[in-house]
Amino acid sequence: MPLENLYDVVIIGAGPIGLACGIEAKKAGLKYLIIEKGCLVNSLYHYPLNMTFFSTSERLEIGDVPFISHGPKPNRAESLEYYRRVCATWNLNIKLYEKVESVISEDGNHSVTTSKGNYNAQAIILSLGFYDLPYPLNVPGEELPKVKHYYDEPHPYFGQNIIVVGAANSAVDVALETYRKGANVTMVVREPSILDTVKYWVKPDIENRIMEGSIKAYFNSEVLEIGTSSAKIKTPAGELVIENDFVLAMTGYQPPFEFMESCGVKFQDDQFHTPIYNERTMETNVKNLYLAGVVCGGLKTNKWFIENSRVHAEIIINHLKEAAI
Ligand SMILES: Cc1cc2nc3c(=O)[nH]c(=O)nc-3n(C[C@H](O)[C@H](O)[C@H](O)COP(=O)(O)OP(=O)(O)OC[C@H]3O[C@@H](n4cnc5c(N)ncnc54)[C@H](O)[C@@H]3O)c2cc1C
Repeated sequence: MPLENLYDVVIIGAGPIGLACGIEAKKAGLKYLIIEKGCLVNSLYHYPLNMTFFSTSERLEIGDVPFISHGPKPNRAESLEYYRRVCATWNLNIKLYEKVESVISEDGNHSVTTSKGNYNAQAIILSLGFYDLPYPLNVPGEELPKVKHYYDEPHPYFGQNIIVVGAANSAVDVALETYRKGANVTMVVREPSILDTVKYWVKPDIENRIMEGSIKAYFNSEVLEIGTSSAKIKTPAGELVIENDFVLAMTGYQPPFEFMESCGVKFQDDQFHTPIYNERTMETNVKNLYLAGVVCGGLKTNKWFIENSRVHAEIIINHLKEAAI
C-alpha cells in the first residue's frame, strides 16, 4: 500500500464529533484522515430547513472556534456555516462522498475499504451517527412516495391532509410547523400522550393545539395501512379510514448496527443494543477501534449528542497518545 494511504488514525464520519476527533488528532501530531460518505456534517445538512438547535451555540463549539449565532440557539444554516468554518480553520484532512464499506482488524491494525480506495490505520474511530436508518412503520403502503421518513420544510404540505406519526420532538415540531403553514394535521401516536422528553417550551404549544382541536391526535393508536388517498388507523375506539395525502413518519432513526458488527464490535444484551466499549478510553472490544458520539448509546439515541459527546475526542486521542501510536 502506498505510504500516503497509511494512517495513525482513520475517523469514519464527518459529523461534529468526527471533526472534533480530527482536530484532537491533528493537535497530537498524528497522521489522521476523516472519511465521510456524504457532505460535511451530512446529518445536520439533512435536518429540517427551519430547525433550531435546543443547545445554545457555545455548547456546540469544537476546536476552540467560537460559534456566534444571531439568537442564543443557532439554526441549521448557522450550524452548517460554523462547521465549514471549523473545517477550514483547522484545515482538516477529510475525504467527502466516500463511503467506508468495511474495516478488517488484525492485531490492532486495520484495513479500511471505501467506495474509492483502501487505507491502513493503526487506530479507527467510528463516529457514525444515527440518522441514516429510519425505523420503518412496517405497514402495507409504506413504499408509496407520499410516505416520508425525513422532513425538510412545510410548504409542500399546504392544503394537504397529513398524518404525523410519533410524539417525540421531531414529530411535534413537524406537526406544529405544517399546521401553521396550512396543512390539516392528524397525529397518530402509539403512546398515551405527547412524550415528556419534548422540549419544555414546545410541549404546552402542541398540547394546547390538540386540546382546542386545531391538530387532531389519536393516542394509543397506530397506522395499519396506507393507500394512495387514505390511511387506515387503529384507535382504542376501533379502526378508522381517514383521507390522507402524506404520511410523515417521525419514528426515529437507529445507528448502523450491521456495519458496526461487521467491524467486530460486540453489543450488550440490553434493550438499547448498547455497544460494548470502555467508558474510560472509548475503546471497543476490538483493539484500537474506538466509538465516539451518538453511536455510543445504541438505540438510546438521545443519550449522547453534540454537547455531551464532544469530550469523546479528547478521551480517545489521549488514550492513543498513552499507547504511543
Ligand atoms: C432535529 C435535531 C436537532 C438536534 N439538536 C441538537 C442540539 O440542539 N444539541 C445537540 O447537542 N444535539 C442535537 N441533536 C443531536 C445531534 O445532532 C447528534 O447527536 C449529532 O449529530 C451527533 O454527532 P455525531 O458526529 O456523533 O454523528 P452525526 O452528526 O450523525 O455524523 C455521523 C456521520 O457519519 C457519516 N457516516 C455514517 N456511516 C458512514 C460510512 N460507512 N462511511 C462514511 N461516513 C459514514 C454520516 O454520513 C454522518 O455525516 C439534534 C438532532 C436532531 C435530529
